[in-house]
Amino acid sequence: MTATMSASKLRRCLLKALALFVALVCCLSFPAAATGEDSTEQADEGTSQQEKEQTTEENTTDEAYQELESQYEKLEQEMEKNQEKLDKVQESLDEQEKVVDGLGNQISSTQNEVDLLTIRYQALLNEQSNTESQIELITKQLGSLSSQIEQTGAAITEKQEQLEVTYELLKQRIRAMYMAGSGSTLEFLLTSEDFSTLLTRTELLVRVAQHDNDLMATLQDEVSELEQLETTLTDSVTAQETKKTDLSSKTQSLESSKSKIQATSDELKQKREELKTEMEKEKQELNALDKESDEYKALISKQEDELIALSAQMEEFIKNSGSSTTDKDEETTEPDGEETTEKDEPDSKDNPYLDGTETVFSSGMIFPLKCSGVYISSPYGMRTHPITGEYKLHTGTDFCAAGIDGKTVYAVKDGEVIYAAKHKAYGNFVIIDHGKGISSCYAHMQDGSMRVSVGDKVQQGQPIGKVGDTGYSTAPHLHFEIRVDGSTVNPMSGYIKLPG
Ligand SMILES: [Zn+2]
Repeated sequence: MTATMSASKLRRCLLKALALFVALVCCLSFPAAATGEDSTEQADEGTSQQEKEQTTEENTTDEAYQELESQYEKLEQEMEKNQEKLDKVQESLDEQEKVVDGLGNQISSTQNEVDLLTIRYQALLNEQSNTESQIELITKQLGSLSSQIEQTGAAITEKQEQLEVTYELLKQRIRAMYMAGSGSTLEFLLTSEDFSTLLTRTELLVRVAQHDNDLMATLQDEVSELEQLETTLTDSVTAQETKKTDLSSKTQSLESSKSKIQATSDELKQKREELKTEMEKEKQELNALDKESDEYKALISKQEDELIALSAQMEEFIKNSGSSTTDKDEETTEPDGEETTEKDEPDSKDNPYLDGTETVFSSGMIFPLKCSGVYISSPYGMRTHPITGEYKLHTGTDFCAAGIDGKTVYAVKDGEVIYAAKHKAYGNFVIIDHGKGISSCYAHMQDGSMRVSVGDKVQQGQPIGKVGDTGYSTAPHLHFEIRVDGSTVNPMSGYIKLPG
């Protein structure tokens, strides 16, 4: 008897246990049919009867095992599909978030433009009202100027009339003096009775001429003064008119700028509203995607739990059918506590896979990797799951190292391969039964790298595959488990130690 059970015995036991499980399920579903079977099983007498039962039992076991396997496969396929859907939903979510962010940026930049335009519009309004009050003032000034011009015109007319009247009187006097003859003035002087009268008459004539001359000069001065005032006033009117025209055209240009700004602002406001509507729509879509993503995550988590439950059932079968800690004809594989002593000699001197450099721990195991710089990236125990985010037991120890991808994974001890297949969570996964209920498990190995199959007897140090990234893994690493009677234990508690 070797340290492990034969492949056929193990498989038969496994199938038997599976069948018991399915029978139990059937029993619960069809109690009537199961009652008969139970009574048959209880029958313990007669060798031929026992053989018959064994054959029937094996057939049932085969069917049950196939049924269980196809259930398992279907579940895995479903999970894979759901994961793909979840990935797509996540992609859409990411894109959607980018769109919403982009729209938010557009809205705030549009709002900034509207704010700037509002400031410019307010400035224009102020300028316009300023210009308008200037025009009002000039219009008033023009009114006052034109009334001044009117007054000046009237004064000029009046003075000219006075000038004309004075001139007419002067002309009449000269004409009368002329009509009376040149001798009349002389006669007027010569007919003076005495010298004193002559002097008086001469002075009188001089005074009359002087008065006429003065009057004419004064009137002419006044007229020319008024004409000058009129010219000044007219010039001022022209200047003010020009200013008014300028201001009017400025008002017009301000008015057109205002209209343009108003139009641009209205356009931007409309654009902002459109963007807001669009963003609202995108946000709704995002919420729907979020909900969908949550639903898929919940579904995956549920199916993962189902898978774990199925896996636990299979572990139970291994416990019932494979090697056990109570087997007596096997050497002990149990750890001897915290203090791991190391053996000098490997398990077998005839083992071609060992070169004597390997350290064999007191558990009889060697380290599953030979590359340098290995460290524990995730220890055995409770942890948050990287995909579902749920707090669950980490069933093994994760080993990592720089350049670990593709490094050879070695059997830690002699044993028999009882599982070698691709598992949804564990990727390419190998379980080796070392006897006495102890098994070692190696997960996430590269596709096509597995060098052992179910039933193979392997020797300590024999290559079984290469470190990879398959299954639920975020980076290449070796997920290593030790199971005692099917249940996981901490591999670092006396089974193996980190090298170096
Ligand atoms: Zn792990």
